[in-house]
Amino acid sequence: MDIIMLGVPGAGKGTQAKMLSEKLGIPHISTGDIFRVNIREGTELGKAAADYINKGKLVPDDITFNIVKKRLAEDDCRKGFVLDGFPRTIPQAELLDAELVKYGRKIDVVLNIDVPDAEVTDRISGRLICPKCGANYHKKSNPPAEGNICGKCSGEVIQRKDDSCETVVERIKTYHLQTKPLIGYYTRKGSMVKVDGRGDIGAIHRKIIKALQDRER
Ligand code: AMP
Repeated sequence: MDIIMLGVPGAGKGTQAKMLSEKLGIPHISTGDIFRVNIREGTELGKAAADYINKGKLVPDDITFNIVKKRLAEDDCRKGFVLDGFPRTIPQAELLDAELVKYGRKIDVVLNIDVPDAEVTDRISGRLICPKCGANYHKKSNPPAEGNICGKCSGEVIQRKDDSCETVVERIKTYHLQTKPLIGYYTRKGSMVKVDGRGDIGAIHRKIIKALQDRER
């Protein structure tokens, strides 16, 4: 199954995408994670992307699409994928559609994780991540058991640079201007499913699984 996770920054796309990819046995592809690894390793891609990311802006479409195109060509994507954070613009969605046609495939479902802006601002400002293994934590609702040590890999848990208050405001603005139009784009294609992203993480996951099962009937 070829799946896209859509939603405002902080809606819980990443967490739900990881859970869904484990459940379905298909890869989780996060463009944000790919950029962060490249920034950490100081690659050319990382250098090209860092400034945009730190300002809460989108990395240009051609740069972003190229990394997705390469990733989709890998063997593990044959059974499907969960795309998290891509596409974020209409041109990206069009490039993705054209790329999938080459494989005789199309996006099966777009899950729009719906959370009000006021709630995501709160969530992001408390969000913590482990850069080593990608585990997510939250200062209030899900703190690491021991100080700032990741319970999964013992790495150091940090706040993402682009989760600072000013950058979050910019990222939410960018979402409304450039990414939200994708809701109309995929609704017209008949692949859009809205999921209420408020409440318990496990309950949201179950709602997603149910929505996918309902579509398969
Ligand atoms: P995320 O982890 O998905 O919130 O992404 C972090 C940042 O990476 C975003 O705020 C953008 O600056 C950049 N980014 C991730 N995915 C994309 C994309 N599809 N198009 C452009 N920029 C992206």
